[in-house]
Amino acid sequence: MIPVIVIDGPAGTGKGTIAALLAERLGWHLLDSGALYRVLGLAALQQQVSFDDAAELTKLAEALALQFDAGRIFLAGAEVTDAIRTEAVGMAASQVAAHPPVRDALLDWQRQCAQLPGLIADGRDLGTVVFPDAALKIFLDASAEVRANRRYKQLIEKGLSANLFELIADIRERDDRDRNRAVAPLCAAADAVIVDSTTLSIAAVFDRVLEEVRR
Ligand code: C5P
Repeated sequence: MIPVIVIDGPAGTGKGTIAALLAERLGWHLLDSGALYRVLGLAALQQQVSFDDAAELTKLAEALALQFDAGRIFLAGAEVTDAIRTEAVGMAASQVAAHPPVRDALLDWQRQCAQLPGLIADGRDLGTVVFPDAALKIFLDASAEVRANRRYKQLIEKGLSANLFELIADIRERDDRDRNRAVAPLCAAADAVIVDSTTLSIAAVFDRVLEEVRR
C-alpha cells in the first residue's frame, strides 16, 4: 500500500507550509487539496456560475482542466498560482466545496495523487474522507485571531493592503461554513493527532510532526 500522511485543519494554521516541508524532507509527493477547491472557485467566478448551482458546479468540477507542475498551478493552460490565493477566491472555494456532488467529483483526482514513494496531503477532510486509511493523520489548529494575524503579515510582506479585522471576520465565516456543512465537515478524524499551533513557531510545529512521523 502507498503510504499517505494527511494534515487537516482550518485556514491559516500553517498546514500547507508543514506539508511542503514534510514532503521535501521525505522526498514524497505533495497534494494541496485546498488549491483544487480554489481553482474550482476561480473557474466558477470566471464563468459566472452561481455558487448555489450544484449541478453546474459539478459539471465544472468534472471537466476541470487542472495541472499542478512543480509548485505552479494551471487552469486550462493559464497559470493561476497567485490568482487563487486571494481572499475572494478562498471564499468562493469554501462555497463551491459545500456541495456534496462537487466534492465527489474531486475525490478520484485526489486519490490518484497517492503514488510511490508516498504522499503528503493537506486539506479539511483528507483524514476523514479522502484517505481514511492514512498511515498518519495530523490535525493542525490555532485560534482564529492568530491565524488571521499570520495571514495579515503575509499580505503586508507581499506589499498588499490588508485589514486585520476583516481577515478575522473572513476566517470565522469560512471556518463556520467548513465546520457546519452537510458533508465532509472540517473536523479531526477520530485517530488524528491534534497539534495546536497557536503559540508555536513553524519550526516547532514541524519538529512536533516529525516526532509523530518517526514513532
Ligand atoms: O486550504 P485552503 O484555504 O486553500 O482551502 C480553501 C477552501 O477549500 C476551504 O475554506 C474549504 O472550504 C475548501 N476545502 C475543502 N476540503 C479540502 C480542502 C479545502 O472543503 N480538503
